[in-house]
Amino acid sequence: RAKTAGRNRVRMYEPGMGSESAQRLMLDRDLRAALATGELLLHYQSVVEAVSGQPQGFEALVRWAHPQQGLISPGQFIPVAEETGLIVPMGTWVLGEACRQAAAWQGRGQALTMSVNVSARQFEQPDFVAIVRDALAESGLDPRLLILELTERVVLRNPDAAVVLLHDLRALGIRIALDDFGTGYSSLGLLKTLPIDVLKIDRSFVQGDRAEVMVGAIVSLAHAFGLTVIAEGVETAEQLALVQALHCNGVQGYLFARPGPAHEVMPL
Ligand code: C2E
Ligand code: MG
Ligand code: MG
Ligand code: MG
Repeated sequence: RAKTAGRNRVRMYEPGMGSESAQRLMLDRDLRAALATGELLLHYQSVVEAVSGQPQGFEALVRWAHPQQGLISPGQFIPVAEETGLIVPMGTWVLGEACRQAAAWQGRGQALTMSVNVSARQFEQPDFVAIVRDALAESGLDPRLLILELTERVVLRNPDAAVVLLHDLRALGIRIALDDFGTGYSSLGLLKTLPIDVLKIDRSFVQGDRAEVMVGAIVSLAHAFGLTVIAEGVETAEQLALVQALHCNGVQGYLFARPGPAHEVMPL
């Protein structure tokens, strides 16, 4: 396929291009180089207040500006980075870069939150709290503007350790969001015991069948535990009306904005 696609459209990390393990090796090698040479970049997607539509912050989403393939989305390389452990230095870079950008906006008088995705391997690093503390200190970002996003899957790997760690992270003054809520092995017990602040409803519930039942139930539960709720994947006016009626606090989705580079999402 690569041949017929032509020289400028080489497609590398695809099935049919050698054994799967050989592909992973190649991707891992190129990804390491990409991190070292600055081919990784962040796009930002706004999170808006549900009722007013006012921007309350952004989520940082990593991209790989591949010299041949163009912009590669995280779904294509994060799983491999998680497997090989490269996600740890990559995640540290993402955190630092996102904090620097948020601090720059803070310096322009914009108190916008910055949400950063954290994967299991990062969360399980013994010095993870120190890494976050350093990113805050080096950027000068107000800790109250930083939100770390974790999935249930990550937390459930070791819930007892997670509770301790989340307490330590919140002691820095930052907030914690549970991402893609409802897609993992969610347990209601988790919501009761986890020291978290925000719950993000996965877009499959916002866009799926019986959205009013699913979203309504999740919002009630989250609010009962004092959590703020963000609806992900809002693409249509109908979906927006629904999540507003169901009292979601924040909204994220293509209806408002697609992820983009900093200068596009927040022009001077
Ligand atoms: P996520 O954290 O749940 O991020 C939301 C994803 O949904 C993003 O995809 C975003 O572009 C997409 N999205 C937002 N609004 C809409 C919408 O209205 N419709 C649809 N169909 N999609 C929407 P993206 O950027 O491809 O990221 C995918 C996932 O990759 C993220 O899901 C997150 O789990 C992971 N990821 C992204 N950046 C990082 C990172 O820096 N570190 C780690 N560990 N994971 C990351
Ligand atoms: Mg996220
Ligand atoms: Mg999500
Ligand atoms: Mg997701």
